[in-house]
This record gives sequence, C-alpha cells and structure tokens, in this order.
Amino acid sequence: MLIIYLCVFFLGASLASFLNASIYRIEKKYKYPTIITSKSHCEYCKKELSWLELIPVIGFFLLKGKCKKCKEKINIYYPLSELVLGLIFLLFFLNSITWYFWIIVLFLFVFTTYDIKYKAIPKDIVHIFLLLSSLLFYLYILNPTNLYLPIAITLFLILVNIIKKSFGVGDILVLLGLGILIPYQQYIVTFWGGIIIALLYALYLLFKGVKNIRKIKVPMMPFFSLSFVISLIYGNQLFDILLKFLGI
Ligand SMILES: [Zn+2]
Repeated sequence: MLIIYLCVFFLGASLASFLNASIYRIEKKYKYPTIITSKSHCEYCKKELSWLELIPVIGFFLLKGKCKKCKEKINIYYPLSELVLGLIFLLFFLNSITWYFWIIVLFLFVFTTYDIKYKAIPKDIVHIFLLLSSLLFYLYILNPTNLYLPIAITLFLILVNIIKKSFGVGDILVLLGLGILIPYQQYIVTFWGGIIIALLYALYLLFKGVKNIRKIKVPMMPFFSLSFVISLIYGNQLFDILLKFLGI
C-alpha cells in the first residue's frame, strides 16, 4: 500500500514541477518546441540540473536549497508547491475524490501560481476552465440546484465591483466554474472558507508589522483553491458545524 501512496504523491509533485517549469518558460517567451525539450536549469547561472536534482521535493533537500554551482538560493515556492500538490493528490486518493476534480485542481494550481507570481490570472486559461467546468456539469452533474447560488453570488460580486472594484474578474469566473460542480453546501464552505483564510493571512501580516495592508493586493486564488480542496473532502461536515454555530 505504501508504494501506491508514494506513487500518487509523486504523481502530484511531478505535475507541480512540470506546471511550474511550463509557466516559467511561457513567461520567459520560450518558443515551441523548446518549451518542452529544453533541459531544466538554474535560474541564475544556467547550470543544467541532473536527474537526481530534478526529483520533486527531494531534489531540493539533496541540494540543501542552493544551486550547486553558484550557491544561489532556490525559490522556496517550487519545492513547497510540489509538496502541497503531492499531498492534495494523496488526500484525494484516500478520500476517493471523483476523477475530474483531479483535473480541476491542476487548473487551480496554475491559477494560484500565476496569482502569486504575477498578481493576475491569464484570461485564456480561465475561459478554457469555464468551458471544461460547463461541459463536466452537462455530462456528469446536471443538477440545477448547483447553479442558483454560484450564479447569484457571481452577479452580486459583479455588482460590488461596479460600485467599488474589489474582486478580480478572473477570481469571480473561477469561483463560478467551481461552484456549479459542487453542491451548494460545499460552495458556501469554499466561498466563506477562502475569505476567512484570507482574513487570517491579513491578520498574520498585521502581526508581522506589515504596514498599509489595505493597499497590498492580496492574491485570492491560493485561498479559494485551498478552501475548495478542504470543502471537497470535509465540506459537508464543516457545513453542519456552520449550521450548529448559527443555531439553525
Ligand atoms: Zn546556479
């Protein structure tokens, strides 16, 4: 059994590593086919990485977090994101999560990476995501009660945006795409969960003494992605707790 768990974990971690490299190359304007064929190298001195150093998560520890040649520190985001996606895959496997959510989570991974690195998510990928999520809804779900709340919240957020620009259009559309795939209980947990985690993060920044918090543009995609994963697995229990808390 352990070997299966390891395989599932490293499948997630390897996909994270592949997506990180692809996003890096796309943003550095690599041309096809070098996007796929060029070997991974150190960002600073261009030293090529050996296969041992390329193993997700473990490579980082083998290198002690530094490039062998130029001793420049490796961005902690890479091993950390590989670890997180590996763990998410493992959790999905243990909880027998439906196959298409594994693909959805890869999209969320890409959105999160873009949101953290570039403070914006690419429109084209959001459109592909919405198309995929509509198709999945049509083929596998087709439950109209899944639609009401996500559509209502989308209209509400657009209205809020008209009064004062508060949410990224990308964030709103991704939430819509996620919402139609899950029951409304899980959607509520995803939506409020994301906002609560973001508030906790803002509090953390406050305690660290970061000033002008209101002026910092906090990427929301990491928080919504995290709360979506949590709600896929624990959404129903969390929703019951919420109802008890509210005395309903
Ligand atoms: Zn280097």
